[in-house]
Amino acid sequence: MSRYPDPNYGGSIPNPPQQGSMGAPYGQNAVGTDMTMAQPPMQPQGTSLLHQRPLPPGASAGAQQQQPPMYQPQADVNSIASGMSNIGLQDSSAQPYPAPDQPYGASTQPYGTSTQPYGSSTQPYGAPAQPYGASDYGGQQPAAYGAPATYQQGQAPGMSSLEPQMYPQQPQEPLGSPGVGEPALPRPTAIEPACGSKREVYNSVADGSAPGVGPPPASRNDFIGVDTGSCTPRFMRLTVNSIPADSSMQATSSIPLGLILTPFADPDPGEAGVLDVDLTTAGGGGPLRCSSCNGYANPGFRFVDSGNKFHCNLCGHENDTPSEHMCATNPANGLRLDIDYRHEFRYGSVDYVVGNKDYFATDPTPPHFVVCVDVSASGISTGLATVAVQSVQSILEANALPGGSSGAKIGIITFDQSLHFYDGRGDGQARVQYVPDTSDPFIPIGPEAFFQPPERAISVIEMISNAFSLMDPSQLKGGPPPSGNALGAAVVAAKQALADIGGKVFVVTGGIPSVGSGKLERRGGGSVSSEEREKALLKDETPFYDDLGSQMAELQISVDMVIATQQPYVDAASLLRLPRASGGRGFLLTNFDYRKDDVSVRKILVNAIWGVRALDAMVKVRASKGLETGEYMGSFGRPQRRNDVIAPVMGVDSVMALELKHDGQIQTNLGGGSMISASAFSNNVCIQCAILYTDLAGRRRIRVHTMFPPKTTVLQDTFRSADLDAVVAMMCMRAANAAFSGSRVLSKVREALIEKTAHILFVYRKFCNPPKSQSTKLVLPETLKLLPVMILGILKSSAFRPQPSGQNLGVVSTDERAAALLFLSTARPQDITTFAYPRMVLLSQLDEFAGLPRAPQDGFPPEGEPIALPASVPLSSEFLADERMFLVDNGLRLLLWYGKACSPELIQEIFDMSTGVYRLRLGEEGQGELAMRISAIITRILESKSNLTQVIVAPAGSSDGAEQNQYLPLLIEDKNIALAQSGWSYKEFLKVAHRRIMDKMAQERAQKDFQAWEMLGYQ
Ligand SMILES: [Zn+2]
Repeated sequence: MSRYPDPNYGGSIPNPPQQGSMGAPYGQNAVGTDMTMAQPPMQPQGTSLLHQRPLPPGASAGAQQQQPPMYQPQADVNSIASGMSNIGLQDSSAQPYPAPDQPYGASTQPYGTSTQPYGSSTQPYGAPAQPYGASDYGGQQPAAYGAPATYQQGQAPGMSSLEPQMYPQQPQEPLGSPGVGEPALPRPTAIEPACGSKREVYNSVADGSAPGVGPPPASRNDFIGVDTGSCTPRFMRLTVNSIPADSSMQATSSIPLGLILTPFADPDPGEAGVLDVDLTTAGGGGPLRCSSCNGYANPGFRFVDSGNKFHCNLCGHENDTPSEHMCATNPANGLRLDIDYRHEFRYGSVDYVVGNKDYFATDPTPPHFVVCVDVSASGISTGLATVAVQSVQSILEANALPGGSSGAKIGIITFDQSLHFYDGRGDGQARVQYVPDTSDPFIPIGPEAFFQPPERAISVIEMISNAFSLMDPSQLKGGPPPSGNALGAAVVAAKQALADIGGKVFVVTGGIPSVGSGKLERRGGGSVSSEEREKALLKDETPFYDDLGSQMAELQISVDMVIATQQPYVDAASLLRLPRASGGRGFLLTNFDYRKDDVSVRKILVNAIWGVRALDAMVKVRASKGLETGEYMGSFGRPQRRNDVIAPVMGVDSVMALELKHDGQIQTNLGGGSMISASAFSNNVCIQCAILYTDLAGRRRIRVHTMFPPKTTVLQDTFRSADLDAVVAMMCMRAANAAFSGSRVLSKVREALIEKTAHILFVYRKFCNPPKSQSTKLVLPETLKLLPVMILGILKSSAFRPQPSGQNLGVVSTDERAAALLFLSTARPQDITTFAYPRMVLLSQLDEFAGLPRAPQDGFPPEGEPIALPASVPLSSEFLADERMFLVDNGLRLLLWYGKACSPELIQEIFDMSTGVYRLRLGEEGQGELAMRISAIITRILESKSNLTQVIVAPAGSSDGAEQNQYLPLLIEDKNIALAQSGWSYKEFLKVAHRRIMDKMAQERAQKDFQAWEMLGYQ
């Protein structure tokens, strides 16, 4: 799944997608002309800089003050042991880790033997329909942090016996799956397809009939989505795929009702992408729409009267068919005779290219970009400015600027305590203009001088490199760089530059803004003394960045911000308001060290620029009568105008979540029908998202995604059809917004998450009516059986983890907290579930298929097949062993852990440590087979994660705190005694949830008893 070919990981930058040609006939995506299909990769020209590492800036004065912590190759063993006991890690001599080849539990199948890949489980997941018994988890002394609770013999994985088994049985037995007689707690690891198996093909409408009620494949699993008449989960996911018929049923079910949109997601290999409908030549008309509700044509429209009229499936209105869309119908089945040529009547997703001026607010322009780079001491001496400038240069030299062949332009501003603007019009001799006034900044050069086409912008880049000696900071002209940072003023200037045309701004800073507009005080840093103090620090110090972001969104400008810093505090809570309010994204790299993090900064910048797809966008969601749209969350501009959402710039990873509300009985059967078959969809709800936008070639387009979930009056249907990923995403986005807005202290947000989880499970418990023998058991709905562990993971994540008491274990800085909260409120469902329950895989031994293109057929891997990832293991220190090496991906960071007896040869093959830090050797020559496959696994993860900011190596006993503060807190199934109540082990958390459910049951009974007693008075 190489969505972002990135030169730094061994690939090459492709051309940005070109839009405009008519889509290939459905299913023939290999033609590759569809807009969302990437062009074949093109070798970048002149990429020498691309692979250059920044020179050590040690010679500069600033660098000497800010040397990154040096890697300590071998820590003192005794101090590690005492440190472990301090943090509650059990003494390895008293209770050693399991031997490397000794599987956890009493499994008869040793893990990792090549003849026995994961896959021959005698205990397929989920087979026994047994609930969790409360007693199963009772009576156990809580283990200390880092020491997982040992799982007692007890019930097998549970689900209600009333529930059908929703997931296919997984013939796999990953490391850590229980041995004979061990209970299995529900884990995401159990719903992964077996390593190396074929990807599931998911048809959005099965066999031309109405969409079913089951949830789509999990977002973090590989699948091939096929649009067979309804939008695929690649673009839209509903929290429940059977919509409650009315508000009282919705209120009872308590599962949030909403929609998660990733409308510009790139297709995975094997997927067709969105097909074009070109209306620019068809008489200048627009798409076929309902004259009453303005809904767009979709497979649910039904034509009558020989095609002269059609019924809208959103509102039921009978429309006259406009002449430009007139086509006779087949009397036999009622379908239009042109059905084979009209994508909009056949598929759930289409992209109209419109020439009709009704869809133009202003004349569209090709994309314009502004890059603002910190060249103050915090940017220069850390090597950040070098990395940032080289990243932009690599994109320009590879002709990979989005819209670059269609007139896209880029302007560059550098800033220290003043602003620097570059006039790129001279023949290879750019001129610089300085603006020292940073309190009321202005642009001293006109747009024709400031914005340059890619080829001329390269000369500007070269000038900047020379002016600031970026290739060799030891040769800094005029002494060390100024320490003043005028970030706020630079963004104000960028806003002025783009005020009339809109566009995208990328800001790269190494420190806190210290001069001019948007100057921030260092109000935080160090330990956070109280929850109220943390709440105050999560609020912005000044409304400057929030206001500026909103103003920019109104001007159709969006900002992405990269903060890569060595400073202990940069007030990310204030700074990240800027991307948040303008529909952009923010990235925080702490303890930035150019020697290893240059790769991360390149990846972030290249992906952010390359991933731009839509400008000047307006989003509108419509739904069947009886449903209305509620609160929007995610990447878009604030404030909003009515129900139309402004999204200045959208990219492949842009996410929106939308609450759906009932405003009466949902009306289906509105005379609508289907262009798929005469009967399908007639009793289905219609939900349609339309995005009006300008593409990278400067044309107006409308992307329409439509889906047709059934409605239901049966409460259990909502549980059977619940989409865990969408439910978790909705809950997390709302919680993150509450915390980031500073309206709630974190403990209140945590409590709300726990209570909501318990209430959903209570409703299921109450209405699923388990047999009496199970009346005291914890019963989890099949589709939401992972909800507790996901919420536990979120509670223990850097977004919501309480500050540990008296110890440093798992401390979260305010900056990290703010970055995690912004991530949660703008991340895709697959990123959020990975953040909640990170994917941990064993690298030191690989399954025979791992690290290779999955599903080889006849000895040849199918074209474009993604690299198979190893089966993941439960997040418990139970599985750590001296000889093992693990990789953990939580969507934000990638952590590599290895034990003290891990093969030194393997470590040397994976890491280059010649500069004193761990630097990944991805795809370098001379690696052995295992290292090459590990490289392929890491590369695949890096490429598929848009928010991944840093790779952190945390060897056992590392002295820099990486193991204790970064790695161990991700092992969320363990107990963390430093977190007091919130440090529950997984089993303890299930008990907490169970107790709440039983309390709610008791309250209901008490209420009934009370009512019965009251009734006596009336008799
Ligand atoms: Zn309508």
